[in-house]
Amino acid sequence: MAQAELHIDLGALAANWRALDAMTDVETAATVKANGYGLGAGRVADALAKAGARRFFVAVAEEGVAVRAAIGPDLPIHVYGGHMAGDAGVIRDAGLIPMLNSVEQLTRHFEALPGHPFGIQLDSGMNRLGMEPDEWASVAEIALAQAPALIMSHLACADEPDHPMNTQQLATFRELTDGAGVPRSLSATGGVLLGRDYHFDLTRPGIGLYGGLPFAEAQAVVRLSIPVIQTRIVQAGESVGYGNSFVADRDLRVATIAAGYADGIQRALSRRATLWAGDTPCPLLGRVSMDLLTIDVSAVDGPVAALDLIGPHQGVDALADVIGTIGYEMLTGLGQRYKRVYSE
Ligand SMILES: *Cc1c(COP(=O)(O)O)cnc(C)c1O
Repeated sequence: MAQAELHIDLGALAANWRALDAMTDVETAATVKANGYGLGAGRVADALAKAGARRFFVAVAEEGVAVRAAIGPDLPIHVYGGHMAGDAGVIRDAGLIPMLNSVEQLTRHFEALPGHPFGIQLDSGMNRLGMEPDEWASVAEIALAQAPALIMSHLACADEPDHPMNTQQLATFRELTDGAGVPRSLSATGGVLLGRDYHFDLTRPGIGLYGGLPFAEAQAVVRLSIPVIQTRIVQAGESVGYGNSFVADRDLRVATIAAGYADGIQRALSRRATLWAGDTPCPLLGRVSMDLLTIDVSAVDGPVAALDLIGPHQGVDALADVIGTIGYEMLTGLGQRYKRVYSE
């Protein structure tokens, strides 16, 4: 191994989709934005289509192009960001369904691509994307006359099942859409776990497919294995890395491995992360460099070829937790320099 390897278990990905699908009586789509949460949108979408996903969601139109190439011409791909100025060509050519977020987008879409499929995104309280209730009231009749493919909204607090915001948004979404006669979607991963009231006609999980919280029962999808470039003995009193921020208090065997903050291993992990040589925990020493990490492998007997930063002993959420972030950020931040190795 010359390059750090990101192992992606497509079998676990498919199993997670099936497990989330089994929790509902409705269609389960798949959110594959941000390059399939960093894992490779094409491979991920293809594997999910084979598992049974019949509908995909991306954040921006350009992301839809790669997904379209992977899944072929037939399955719908929706764009959360809607119809942005200048996107008409991409939306038409890749056959994307923009989720229109405002009257401005609705007007743009109807003018640029009359008759082209679209959906509607409503704001049920998160105040991030979607038409406000009064805005929707002003255009609902015109929009519904054009038969939207889907009406959706998004929950702000679905990862906290007891949060009162959930029932509040549910009530608002119902008020805005009851009787519309159009398929509806409210739930991402968190909403799937909230139960049937939240499922409507379609769910659109992302993070749970990739093995992340709040889907605690998810199978792990990712293992990140980083090769050792060299090892050395660091004697008591010597320092390691930039800023001399680590000083050995005893003789240590230190491995220098080939990944760093340019690969999404945030500098905030300096002196805090643990890597694994098989079952042996090995602390990160000193600062994270751009392309390198220095690891105490004194506890390992014999040669060390590679260390795992993400794996069976430490999932993406556990690693994220070390620096107070979330699995979503950890996964999507993993850079382009890894060799992505897919297994079925
Ligand atoms: C990202 C996103 C999803 C998927 O969310 P997860 O929490 O990853 O399941 C669903 N809907 C919208 C609007 C999103 O932005």
